[in-house]
Amino acid sequence: MAEPLFNRLCLVGIGLIGSSIARVAKKRGDIAKTIVVTTRRAETLQRVRELGLADVVEADAARAVEGCDGVIFCIPVGAYAEAMRHIAPHLAPGAVLTDVGSTKGSVVRDLSPPLPAGVHLVPAHPMAGTEHSGPDAGFPELFEGRYCIVTPLPESDPAAVEKVKELWRRCGSMIETMDPVTHDKVVAIVSHLPHLIAFTICGTADDLAEETKEAVLKFAASGFRDFTRIAASDVDMWRDVFLNNREAVLEMLSRFAEDAHAFGRAIRWGEAGFIEDRIKRGRKIRRSLIERKQA
Ligand code: NAP
Repeated sequence: MAEPLFNRLCLVGIGLIGSSIARVAKKRGDIAKTIVVTTRRAETLQRVRELGLADVVEADAARAVEGCDGVIFCIPVGAYAEAMRHIAPHLAPGAVLTDVGSTKGSVVRDLSPPLPAGVHLVPAHPMAGTEHSGPDAGFPELFEGRYCIVTPLPESDPAAVEKVKELWRRCGSMIETMDPVTHDKVVAIVSHLPHLIAFTICGTADDLAEETKEAVLKFAASGFRDFTRIAASDVDMWRDVFLNNREAVLEMLSRFAEDAHAFGRAIRWGEAGFIEDRIKRGRKIRRSLIERKQA
């Protein structure tokens, strides 16, 4: 077995993503010698104890990160600034600070200014997840065969960047490197906009009259059901994603709205060729995802 990457690794927050990392680390043994977990609520900490996800469980995040050579933020991105203010003076010199947040520009904005000298910030985003949350929802295979996008800063220490990449390789992920702006645009179209559409379509269905709503649920096995799975996602996480990737989401939404209107216009004017073309493009994208084993 390879040497553990970290001597003492602290997970700040332990829901779906944090607990999946803890589970891989426990299973493999070569990610961290000691896993420290800290989280906001006593109930969650208790659950972490029951599930055996940590070697050390600590209610106070500042105490939890002390002496750790690796720290991973696994909390909603809107909570980063406050959590960072609390822990920054306690981060160990030389430590690698990374995260799993779904937005990256906001992470650099919130974590860089309070970063103590000698602590290395390397943001990352595992492109893996489900609609479930909490420490019971995690599983060690979550990241296998999935991409993890690492967004180092120009000044990031190469050894720290390599350590974060190796962490994700050991979780089974494939690594891509990107700048935070590109990352935020890419995820706005592949993840944030689809969620926005799913939340909206469920809201629209919910607004319909009572008898229609029942019909909606009765016949949900058509395309609607797939939207409801996405729309069942965590409220705090998704509120924070939209508020912290505002520009990119609004840009993609306006492009989408233009395209949707064009589709509507084609339906109105009976432009069968246009409609067929859109459907064919959808099928082509689906096929290429299957070929890339990302379906
Ligand atoms: P989750 O299952 O809901 O767990 C959230 C964790 O953050 C819990 O430990 C929770 O603590 C803590 N937390 C919530 N609000 C907080 C606050 N205001 N201050 C401090 N701690 C707080 O979430 P998750 O799905 O693992 O997501 C965690 C991060 O991963 C997010 O940044 C998200 O954008 C990113 N991400 C998620 C997915 C996905 O599909 N879910 C995929 C990729 C990346 P308590 O339980 O103690 O309250």
